[in-house]
Amino acid sequence: MAPSNPQPMILLRNAEVFAPQAIGRQNLLIGGGRVLGMSTAAIDSPLGIDVEEVDLHGQRLLPGFIDGHVHVTGGGGEGGFATRISPLPLSRYTHGGVTSVIGLLGTDDCARSTRELVANLLALREQGLGAWGYCGGYHLPPTTLTGSVRGDIAFIDPLIGVGELAISDHRSSQPTLDELLRIASEAHVAGLMSGKAGIVHLHLGDGERGLDLVRRALAQSEIPARVFNPTHINRRRALFDEALELATQGCHVDITAFPVEDGEDAWSAADALQRYLDSAAPKQRITISSDAGGCLPCFDSEGQLSHMDVGTPGALLATLVELLDHGLLLDQVLPAFTSNVAALLRLPRKGVIEVGGDADLLVLDDANGLSDVLLGGDWHLREGKSLRRGVFEPLPSPTHSQDGSH
Ligand code: ZN
Repeated sequence: MAPSNPQPMILLRNAEVFAPQAIGRQNLLIGGGRVLGMSTAAIDSPLGIDVEEVDLHGQRLLPGFIDGHVHVTGGGGEGGFATRISPLPLSRYTHGGVTSVIGLLGTDDCARSTRELVANLLALREQGLGAWGYCGGYHLPPTTLTGSVRGDIAFIDPLIGVGELAISDHRSSQPTLDELLRIASEAHVAGLMSGKAGIVHLHLGDGERGLDLVRRALAQSEIPARVFNPTHINRRRALFDEALELATQGCHVDITAFPVEDGEDAWSAADALQRYLDSAAPKQRITISSDAGGCLPCFDSEGQLSHMDVGTPGALLATLVELLDHGLLLDQVLPAFTSNVAALLRLPRKGVIEVGGDADLLVLDDANGLSDVLLGGDWHLREGKSLRRGVFEPLPSPTHSQDGSH
C-alpha cells in the first residue's frame, strides 16, 4: 500500500552519522525510500524538485533498529486463553526506533499458525515496516504454511528461517539431537536455495542442559555454526558463559532485553552486551532483540510474581541509552542493534547508513532521546511529534473525537 501522497525528497544537513561506525558530519539526500547521496561536502537541492531541507545541527543519525525476535501476532497464552496478547500496533515499533522486525511464534504454535504470522508480517510491510519471520514455533513438528520448513523458507517471501524452537525448557518438545539436525539441515538448504538466512532461531529455557544440544550438533554434523542461533542467552549467567564459547565457534548469539531484578541469576541486556564486548568473542556475532509482544512475568521486591507484562520494542532504545549512560561509545554498541542483525539475517540495505541503503533512520537528541524516525524515507516521528501511525491508530489531535460514537 503506497502512501497517498508522493514523498518529497529530503536533504538532511549536518548529521553526525553512525553508520553504525562513526563517519562524522555528513549531508544526506533521501528519495524513493533510499539514501541517494551522502557527502561531507554540501549537497545542492536538485533543481526543480520538491525537497524538504532539514538541518540536524550535528545531532546523531543512526540506522533504524532491526528487532530480531518479535511476537508480531501477539504472544502469551501460557496462563490461560485470556492471557493471549493482541498484535502491537505500528507506532509501538516505529516510535521505539524499530524499523524492521523478525516475527515468530513461541509457546502457542497451536492456536496460532504460520499463516497468521505471515498475514501479520505482510500487514506491517504494507504500513512501511521491514518485516520477515520464521516458520515453526517452540514445538516439533514445526508448524508451517507449505507443509515443510524447506518449502516455507524457499517459497514464502517473508520467511527466512525456523524458530523459536525451544530447547532446555519444560515447555519444549524435548527435541533429540537427530531432530535438531534434521530441522537445521532443512533451514540451511532452503537458505542456500533462496539466498535467505536459513537459520534455526533457538529459544533457550532455564534448564541446566543449556546449550549442550547445540554443542553436540556442531561436533557431530557438517552444518555451519551460523545456522544455530540461540536467544535469551542472558537469562542465566552460566548460560551466557556457554553462549560466549559458542560465539567463538561461529554461532551468532542473541541477548533479550527483558527486565532483570537485582539479585537475579541473569544479566540485563546492557550488562550482557558490555560483558560480550569485553570478552574475546567476535564482535559481529552478538545481537539484541526485545521479545516484543511476548509475555513477561514481573516480580515484586519480595520476588513474588505480581503481574504479567508485555515485552515492548521500546526495550531496545532503553538498552542503548543504558549502555551510553554506562560510558560505552555509540559506535561500539550500535552494531548489535543494526548491522550485526542484518548480516546474520542476510537483509540487504538494512542496518546500515550507506548510499543505496534504505532510508530507515533515527535521530538521537542531546539527551539520548529519540527525536526523529524516518521509515523508508517517510517521517513517522519528527522533533518528538508523531506524524504517521498504524491503520487503526488515530494521530493524536486536540480536535479529534475519541468517543468512538461514529
Ligand atoms: Zn522465547
